[in-house]
Amino acid sequence: MIDGAVLAAAVQSEVATRVAALKARGITPGLSVVLVGEDPASAVYVGSKERTCVELGMRGETIRRSADISQEELLEIVDRLNADERVHGILVQMPLPKHMDADAVVRRIRPEKDVDGFHPVNVGKLLIGETDGFAPCTPAGVVYMLKAHGVKTAGADCVIVGRSNIVGKPMASLMIQPGVDSTVTVCHSRTRDLSAHTRRADILIVAAGRPEMITGDMVKPGAVVIDVGMNRIPDATKKSGTRLVGDVAFAEARAVASLITPVPGGVGKMTIAMLMANTVRAAEQLHPHAAP
Ligand code: NAP
Repeated sequence: MIDGAVLAAAVQSEVATRVAALKARGITPGLSVVLVGEDPASAVYVGSKERTCVELGMRGETIRRSADISQEELLEIVDRLNADERVHGILVQMPLPKHMDADAVVRRIRPEKDVDGFHPVNVGKLLIGETDGFAPCTPAGVVYMLKAHGVKTAGADCVIVGRSNIVGKPMASLMIQPGVDSTVTVCHSRTRDLSAHTRRADILIVAAGRPEMITGDMVKPGAVVIDVGMNRIPDATKKSGTRLVGDVAFAEARAVASLITPVPGGVGKMTIAMLMANTVRAAEQLHPHAAP
């Protein structure tokens, strides 16, 4: 089993060391998160991002605005953060209220401070293999997990289920880069015979948002299975009435796979750790003479 908490702690410990080195040179890395509206899940994510920043010695700030803020007001906040030298990472928590143009907001963030890696400049840098950009945190966390477990990615058949801009596509970009060297197939809702693809995968990465859709018979014996999915399903035995499951039927797949990530406790744990790593690198790159 791949333990996301252990790996996330290792990433965070390295980040804390780099934060201390920057601080010794007079720079405190800072992440500003903008939260618009009252979405409870977003509020939880944002809270843990700010808390983790502070734990690692960084400046963590959350700017909260009500859902009726105008597009112009939000863009002004982004402009202010772009210009603020104390801010090295900017993240606008998604989803934004429906009246807003999320793409325009993401494009307004300075690419050098876009630690979520969603700005088209960073998307392009990732695809062409320029390493001074920022890769989105969840797929970057998956690659970290594979490397940490010594998974042989070179020449491996990697099948990704899902083609979203935040997970599936950047995941494919990372897996085909020289140095990772996998042979990548990306599946989506129009894919014919999904299980014919998944059954070929040496590395199967699932980010479809469909509870337990990958059953044991869809996994090749000995495969490495990475479950990005996070789905809340009803469960009368729980006090909350729900429980979190992945996109993979864990018990069945575990019996077949050589390595697998649990949900919770797998990929989800890595996402914030990689955000912290991106933020400290943003600070290092914005202050090249202060970096160790
Ligand atoms: P998304 O934007 O809804 O994309 C889902 C993708 O899966 C789409 O490309 C869709 O195909 C494909 N898909 C859906 N049903 C399918 C099926 N039956 N067969 C094949 N492909 C199918 O979701 P997302 O934002 O990428 O997130 C995916 C999952 O990861 C969600 O559960 C989300 O909560 C989770 N997630 C976790 C983290 C983390 O930190 N652990 C971070 C981000 C997301 P089409 O493009 O054809 O519609």
